[in-house]
Amino acid sequence: MRLQALREKTAGCRRCAHLASFRSQVVFGVGNPHARLLFAGEAPGAEEDRLGEPFVGPAGKLLTRMIQAMGLEREDVYIANILKCRPDLPPGTPGNRRPTPEEMETCLPYLREQIGIIQPEVIVALGATALEGLTGLRKGISTLRGSFLDFQGIPLLPTFHPSYLLHNPSLKLKRQVWEDLLLVMERLPLPISDRQRGFFLTKAQP
Ligand code: SF4
Repeated sequence: MRLQALREKTAGCRRCAHLASFRSQVVFGVGNPHARLLFAGEAPGAEEDRLGEPFVGPAGKLLTRMIQAMGLEREDVYIANILKCRPDLPPGTPGNRRPTPEEMETCLPYLREQIGIIQPEVIVALGATALEGLTGLRKGISTLRGSFLDFQGIPLLPTFHPSYLLHNPSLKLKRQVWEDLLLVMERLPLPISDRQRGFFLTKAQP
């Protein structure tokens, strides 16, 4: 009920007037309100803005496959962005824009409140922008991935954004992300089969 009340409050938010005029709708978040695992991303893209759900475009489909590889479904976890409205772009400009620090600062109280209500046991920050928004850290994901940080007492693991994986589909990178997710599975804990432990490994080390 608290999450639903927050969703309704957020739906009419106009704290960022320029984003409120550009967006189709606020993309609040999706998933299990009692999730033990929360994925935090950057901001809605065009598809997310149209459908009102985070991570539904190509990067979202990859995230879904990552979640399923962990033995879970999207409905088991919670998925939200640090920015709830699509960053505006000049008319006709394709692609997406990184949120500004001011936009992140303005919107972050909503994600903090979501996390406070859901109280996940582990947070995965997807990409450098989500990591910066949540922790203020500006070091790259390559430097910080692979070990847990802390977000208000909750273990937070940074890893690469799925869209980065789509643009750099190397087996080494996939394995790095998978090793991060294995750390999350160990932390929760979730059962891990030998097959899961070996994902993206056999071909990388023939
Ligand atoms: S980005 Fe966040 S704070 Fe800004 S208008 Fe949208 S919901 Fe409100």
